[in-house]
Amino acid sequence: SPACSATCDGCCCSRAGRPMTAPAPPSVEAEVVVLGAGPGGYTAAFRAADLGLRTVLVERYPTLGGVCLNVGCIPSKALLHAAAVIDGAGEMAAHGIAFGPPSIDLPKLAGWKSQVVARLTRGLAGLARQRKVQVVQGDGAFVSPHRLSVATPDGATEIGFERAIVAAGSRAVEIPGFPNGDPRLMDSTDALVLDEAPGRLLVVGGGIIGLEMATVYAALGSRVSVVELMDGLILGCDRDLVKPLEQRIRARYESIRLSTRVTGITPEASGLRVSFEGTDESTDAPAEDTFDRVLVAVGRRPNGDRIGAENAGVHVDEHGFIPADRRQRTNVEHVFAIGDVAGPPMLAHKATHEGKVAAEVCAGRKSSFDALAIPSVAYTDPEVAWTGLTEAEARERSIDVDKATFPWAASGRALGIGRSEGLTKVLFDRASGRLLGAGIVGPHAGDLIAEATLAIEMGADARDVGLTIHPHPTLSETFNFAAEMVEGTITDLYLPRRGR
Ligand code: NAD
Repeated sequence: SPACSATCDGCCCSRAGRPMTAPAPPSVEAEVVVLGAGPGGYTAAFRAADLGLRTVLVERYPTLGGVCLNVGCIPSKALLHAAAVIDGAGEMAAHGIAFGPPSIDLPKLAGWKSQVVARLTRGLAGLARQRKVQVVQGDGAFVSPHRLSVATPDGATEIGFERAIVAAGSRAVEIPGFPNGDPRLMDSTDALVLDEAPGRLLVVGGGIIGLEMATVYAALGSRVSVVELMDGLILGCDRDLVKPLEQRIRARYESIRLSTRVTGITPEASGLRVSFEGTDESTDAPAEDTFDRVLVAVGRRPNGDRIGAENAGVHVDEHGFIPADRRQRTNVEHVFAIGDVAGPPMLAHKATHEGKVAAEVCAGRKSSFDALAIPSVAYTDPEVAWTGLTEAEARERSIDVDKATFPWAASGRALGIGRSEGLTKVLFDRASGRLLGAGIVGPHAGDLIAEATLAIEMGADARDVGLTIHPHPTLSETFNFAAEMVEGTITDLYLPRRGR
């Protein structure tokens, strides 16, 4: 009710998940103002408050958590779990357990996904309250180097600040000329609403978002096609690690067209008519086709151009990024930038790390961003994960590496879950012996890659990894085995070159 709204943490009424947002006073003063409450922004605000700074967090939407929590990483992972259950159950038919086709209640599934999100946003609202972080809901923009105006639902307010941390995130790229107002043309936010499983779905963009959503919709029964402009899926990852994923989805999806451009989309009563132009000779898909829905996932653009940065003298580059140094400082000493808006990779875990650095520097600490590796994960089926240097990057930089790739076909655990297509690859610096990079494809690759990231940060060499006792039988052993392959001590495979 209105009476409880000022203190509501969402426990008992329909404002579930909303932070404590009392009507904003005409003017607020802050030692630190954080613009944007995604994973980077709320982490920065909470850390700043924990370090004793009077902190105000400005967020456009009624709940904290940004794209990742509300319409990105978290809801998509709930749906990907549902997809894994459907696919896993179906695959057991080959091994003697047949469940029959799933009966899917889409509104109920969407409701569960929303509950997961609401529980987390409620938790964040509570964490903000506990730390006395003042949340101001509204669109914020700089009006001067030390003032931010916020258009709140109740009017406008101004926030005077000593330091600002810009965590304004990014938005989905729209392709001009496409019928962007047509509800059948979706971005990732629309796709996560899950109001129907279209009969035929075209995914434009073979990057992480496109392939994750393709995984969900294929499991829900849609016939999925993917079109990608470049000559490979998930660019940025080594090709050998993408191959098992590509092989699996080529067998399941209607088509995967590489090196192909969508030249136009025409809305018709029967669907969206899409025309293609490309050089992919591996497919005989027609030059024009009609789909019930089209998901456009062709990248994200940073929001640096939407926050009045010029009024604070903050430099925004031609792409919309706000460049920041290792202390997350922009060209203006007291203004910091973190997360998607500060530059690639656009990953939540990079943003949270940067958020802590920025908050600590605001509090006078000598923190800086010096991570050796930032893991990337496509939560597809199989998952594809990589960290540190890729083999292609090592080659470009002329770094000599000792590499090994352990095939999951030799892992008892992988066979026991019916997934022998996985690979675990390691790259060690030939000069120093240290782990430089690792990549994994297979179920749970996203969880497994964390160990490799820690090993890189700790300066581990192949012997460190090979002599670390890993539990048997687990998929984690594959990292151990790959290091043993480099050491020449592996016994789970026969390698002609042994016992160096
Ligand atoms: P992306 O840049 O990863 O992939 C977009 C793909 O679309 C590219 O391969 C590009 O070549 C292709 N493309 C561009 N224009 C095209 C066109 N006209 N026709 C066909 N293909 C075209 O972008 P994304 O998948 O939208 O993801 C955006 C960002 O969000 C990325 O930085 C990604 O890392 C991040 N993200 C990460 C996760 C995760 O960590 N699991 C999940 C979602 C998003």
